[in-house]
Order: sequence, then C-alpha cells, then structure tokens
Amino acid sequence: MAPWLIYWTPNFRVLHRDARAAQVVGLRAERLRDQLLQRWTGESYPAPWLKRADIYLLSGTDEMNDQTGGEPKAGSTLVRPSQLYRGRILSRRVNLAQDDGQLLEATLPHEITHVILGDLLGGQIPLWANEGAAAAAETGDKQDYYGQVLRRFVLRRQTYRLADLFAMQGYPDGPFNALFYAQSCSLARLLLRLGSYADFLALVRHARVSGYDEALERVYGLAGVTVLQRRWLVTGAGRTKSYPWYFEELKRSRRGWIGGQMDGLCLAGP
Ligand SMILES: [Zn+2]
Repeated sequence: MAPWLIYWTPNFRVLHRDARAAQVVGLRAERLRDQLLQRWTGESYPAPWLKRADIYLLSGTDEMNDQTGGEPKAGSTLVRPSQLYRGRILSRRVNLAQDDGQLLEATLPHEITHVILGDLLGGQIPLWANEGAAAAAETGDKQDYYGQVLRRFVLRRQTYRLADLFAMQGYPDGPFNALFYAQSCSLARLLLRLGSYADFLALVRHARVSGYDEALERVYGLAGVTVLQRRWLVTGAGRTKSYPWYFEELKRSRRGWIGGQMDGLCLAGP
C-alpha cells in the first residue's frame, strides 16, 4: 500500500493516496466546519481550531473495517478526551471511505458534527445526542431514508421509549441499529425545532448533572421525558403515511440508494 500523503487545510489534515479526492474532501470539510460551527456556537466567524483534525481518506469500506473493526460503516470518528490541552480535545480522527456514494453530502457533515460536539461538550456526549445531531446534519437522500426506517418501526410499534434511548451506552445490533439512528435523528430534529442549537447543548449539559426530567423543564419548559415522548410521537414519529405510500417510497429509495453521486463529482473507486 502506498504511503499516506497529506493535504493541508487551515483546520484539517487529509491523509490520502489520491490528491484530487483529498482536495475535494478537504475543501468541503472546511466549508462544513464553518457552517456547522456557526449553527452550534452562533459565531459568524468561527475561530480556527488549536490543532487540526485528521481525516483519513481510506480507499473503501474494506480498508475501513481493517482499521476500525466492528460493523461495516461509511465513516467513523474517534475523539479522545484523554488528550486535553487547556480544556480542548486535541486528538480527533475521522475515517472516511473514498467509495462512499454519500461521502460529501451525508457522511462528512455527520462526522464533522461528531468532532464539533466532541469539542463543545468535552467528549462526554450521550450516544443518542451524538448520533442524533450528527444524523440531523446529513443531507441528500439520508433524511428520507431515516424517515422510512422510523415509519417502518412506528407501524410495528417497536420504537424505543425515550427514557431507554437516553440511557443507551452501546449501539444496538441488527435492524435495531438503523432504528437507533433514525429515532435519535428524529428526536434531535424535533429538539432543534423546539429550541436553538445552544438549547440542545444546554440540555445535554444539564441532563448530565440533574437528569433529563429536570433538564427538559429548565431548557425547553417541558414537564419531563414523558411529555417529550408524547410530543415526539405526535410531531416526530407520528407522521406516518399510509401503507401504499410507504411501500412506493421504499421501492424508490432502494433504487436511489445505490451508487449515489456527490455534486456530479463521483469519487467512487474502481
Ligand atoms: Zn456517527
């Protein structure tokens, strides 16, 4: 395997073996970092990071699995809170697969959101909040996909109780893995509609100290998890369509799901 080359941007080191792909990813990562930091911090001109985040542009999911193990995935982010400098996390590594058809519009904003939340919350982020907010940043077909997954489980009455979702510390296996992402995404989107991005961060911080019932009351004026659960069922998960619609949608999405392109520029491998 050829050695890693490095493409430098102000806030990222893109380690790669394909200069053109690295430039596309690096430039997009910078733009996304600014946009996402503006949302999360309210700052018009976000300050540069103390230390660049590393993006490893791997050839494909096979190489990703070799490096990160576990379930096959499009991307992954490792934020190490053990390496702090003046309260800032210094070690952030994002793994991306160059043959990912949704790299620029879905996987990259997802992983950069993990890096940003890691910075803002000191790496101590509940799984649902970390994955929900990251999934909510995805564009392209992904929001439709999450909606379809969620509707499928809502129809079967198999969604998580929010109290259980809040307490989860590991990723579920099999089909419930997709539900976990879809439900977390739907909940994060609801909270980001009910309040601001700063409120979402405040909820996570308060919940750490005093639990979700008190944190929801204080930040959103909601009388606890049960009330949020009802609100989510009505406005988030409750938007299920009738069966024929649902199956048509699923068929369409399956066709669109394979071999997606990014901005007309395909980074797919051979
Ligand atoms: Zn993630």
